[in-house]
Amino acid sequence: MRCQVSLSILGLPTIGDRRRVYAATSTVDPRGDSLVDFDRNHDARVRTAAFDWLARLTSLHGDVLPRDRLAQGFELDQRRVPVVGPQGIFKPALMEVPLSITTAPKGPYDDAIGPDNLLRYRYRGMDPSHRDNAGLRFAMNNELPLVYFHGIVPSRYLAMWPVHVVGDEPESLAFSIALDDAIHSGLFPDNPEALGADTVKGGEIRREYVMSFARRRLHQRAFRERVLRAYRHQCALCRLRHSELLDAAHILPDAEPEGEPVVRNGIALCRLHHAAFDRFFLAVRPDRIIEVRADVLEEVDGPTLRHAIQGLHGKPIVLPTRVVEQPAREVLAQRYERFLEVALAR
Ligand SMILES: [Zn+2]
Repeated sequence: MRCQVSLSILGLPTIGDRRRVYAATSTVDPRGDSLVDFDRNHDARVRTAAFDWLARLTSLHGDVLPRDRLAQGFELDQRRVPVVGPQGIFKPALMEVPLSITTAPKGPYDDAIGPDNLLRYRYRGMDPSHRDNAGLRFAMNNELPLVYFHGIVPSRYLAMWPVHVVGDEPESLAFSIALDDAIHSGLFPDNPEALGADTVKGGEIRREYVMSFARRRLHQRAFRERVLRAYRHQCALCRLRHSELLDAAHILPDAEPEGEPVVRNGIALCRLHHAAFDRFFLAVRPDRIIEVRADVLEEVDGPTLRHAIQGLHGKPIVLPTRVVEQPAREVLAQRYERFLEVALAR
């Protein structure tokens, strides 16, 4: 679904707009109305380069990105442009206005998506005219698109862009941020129209629809990150260590009341073993030993069946180091009962 988007969709100026805003640059102002030497063309060029780079990065790593890669950034005009910094509001050295905002998982800031489906993003500190806060205000007044990095687990962030600052609330020391234009989040439906949502940009119905969709996906992403981290990014059955090929499988399906998206109901599995687990080709007993279904064990076939399925029979699974993250025995027992029913029926 990654696609090239035009500048006007990104909220970046089209050629006609640029001439207009070019003339409107003047002196710095904490109200965010104006800024010394703000060159909208240059700003748009860096922003677009950052968005393009993030699109390439997510096509390699998925939507959840490692912090060190973001801090390293990309190169433009032989200069390194990091896209995150030590503070939540970040402006690279070659820009005048912030490029990104970040929330850490359980960070010091009480950031949350409110009932109006906007993200409340706390000011930096208590001073509304601090340069970071003035910078976000300037981005709001000039409709400059930003990247939002949502911390899911330590050092890993879900990237969403473009997002827009749409409100400033000095009384609560916060900005409100609209995320529903973030077509590059991996969180939103590919085609809201097809599902009957009113897709008028910025419309209440559209925002409510895409944000409820996004919340569900966000929970799924968080579950995946926590489970993969607990299993040290390897398949619990075969130890394959490529995150791109790993899933966080639910031991009890998430549609069921007991199927909570908690690590103790999860297990990291490669694609093959996820499918084999879901289809009861094998099970993990409550003592965490792998059992392959009898009829599958007897089958004669090539090396994949022999090594990747039959070869697991009787072996222990890889366990998370932390006991609280290991699969709950009662959850495994419930799942194993179903496996026995399926095995008996064959
Ligand atoms: Zn595997």
